[in-house]
Amino acid sequence: MSQAGSSRHRVVVVGGGFGGLSAVKALRRADVDVTVIDRVNHHLFQPLLYQMATGILSEGDIAPPLREILHRQRNVDVMLGEVTGVDAGAREVTVDTVGQRSVVGYDSLILAAGSRQSYFGHDEFAVDAPGMKTIDDALEVRGRIFGAFEMAEVTADPAAREAWLTFVVVGAGPTGMEMAGQIAELSRRSLHDNFRGIDPAKARVVLLDGLPRALGPFPESLADRAVKDLTSKGVEIHLGVMVTGVDAEGVDTNADRPTLRRIPARTKIWAAGVAAAPLGQIAAAATGAGTDRAGRVQVQPDCTIAGHPEIFVVGDLMSLDKLPGVAEVAMQSARHAAATIGRRLRGDSTERPFRYRDLGTMATISRFRAVATAGPLRLSGFPGWLAWLFVHLMFLTGFKNRAAVLFNWLIAFIGHGRPQRAITSQQVFARVSLTANPAGASASLHQQAS
Ligand SMILES: Cc1cc2nc3c(=O)[nH]c(=O)nc-3n(C[C@H](O)[C@H](O)[C@H](O)COP(=O)(O)OP(=O)(O)OC[C@H]3O[C@@H](n4cnc5c(N)ncnc54)[C@H](O)[C@@H]3O)c2cc1C
Repeated sequence: MSQAGSSRHRVVVVGGGFGGLSAVKALRRADVDVTVIDRVNHHLFQPLLYQMATGILSEGDIAPPLREILHRQRNVDVMLGEVTGVDAGAREVTVDTVGQRSVVGYDSLILAAGSRQSYFGHDEFAVDAPGMKTIDDALEVRGRIFGAFEMAEVTADPAAREAWLTFVVVGAGPTGMEMAGQIAELSRRSLHDNFRGIDPAKARVVLLDGLPRALGPFPESLADRAVKDLTSKGVEIHLGVMVTGVDAEGVDTNADRPTLRRIPARTKIWAAGVAAAPLGQIAAAATGAGTDRAGRVQVQPDCTIAGHPEIFVVGDLMSLDKLPGVAEVAMQSARHAAATIGRRLRGDSTERPFRYRDLGTMATISRFRAVATAGPLRLSGFPGWLAWLFVHLMFLTGFKNRAAVLFNWLIAFIGHGRPQRAITSQQVFARVSLTANPAGASASLHQQAS
């Protein structure tokens, strides 16, 4: 590593997502050597994953390489690998880089490993209902969505064809609403005239949630408006309906209506729950910290672990004051951790609690429609969508990415096109072969659940 031999304070940041990257950037002028470790080589802008899955954006648009983002910051070194162990006594983390093990020492440690999809104890659902957390997830979902239309085109049996043209999204939070809206728009608008045997506009898009109301974090009036907008786009929304089973051919629910108890659907997308990244349990075991029900690490008001002022936990991995798992919490808590390290190095070790400033929240329903809140401001429809567009462009990292995203949005929103529709045969047929090969299915399940 470039910083070997340096006697400066060593900060190790685990995770190059919203929290990790904000911490690293906030330390750019500090007299420290920073090592940021991530199991992937990019910083992923998760809020736009659903657009990647539905063919609007490419992976490069929303996932610039960490090395490129940080190449001008001389006090930072980037390391690819998964942190698999924390030795809080020796102040070291163990890193696995595709089977190669290394040990990295730290003086301060910032854990920003984020969260993963939760299937509420039913990890077997992952085989047939991929989540929406990583580039791999989004590419798989893209393959399944576009592959389903192809399969419907070549399927003669009407019931089987209908199942290929039925898309079930589980979870009516912002991600599920956005996903369902985009599938509806894709089928009714972008694929218009693309097929000869089927009418893609006949696709059935079903959104299910076990809770009685959609868009939990939003005020009820905005959530109701979003449900109305989405319904007018052709999405069938069923709230208070729990999914009890998922297989290759469809989903089972606990609905009262017999027609909803079994929904034949070849494409299922899981957007229902999150749990902390496994590193939360590892860190908790190493430090004696508690975890909450989602596996997030309980921290002190200053984001450190009790008894370990040198270990910070930020973002989705942190459990503090019931703060939500959103990008702003991650960025602000990470900057708080970086500022604390800077102050300590200047000789000020007074504890300062982290105070979250809620800047609002937003979700798109479809082209030209979104809902947004910011303080007393409530926006919906086109004004909400403009606010959404502006905020997402501002937060995307890197000028090149902003320009590419804006260009792709013009094609998708003003025109009819979806610039990123390429899928591989593996993506289309993977599910068919997995169903025929349970060993493959369990291997895939293991990968997705871990
Ligand atoms: C589909 C989707 C849509 C979303 N939409 C919104 C939205 O509209 N607005 C909003 O505010 N929030 C949204 N969120 C939530 C937001 O993305 C998260 O709150 C935010 O990413 C949390 O930041 P973080 O740094 O804690 O974790 P992340 O950004 O997830 O970063 C964690 C990083 O840690 C790495 N990592 C994990 N474990 C290890 C390990 N053991 N070793 C090394 N590296 C590891 C991961 O590869 C990842 O790069 C959305 C999330 C998703 C999934």
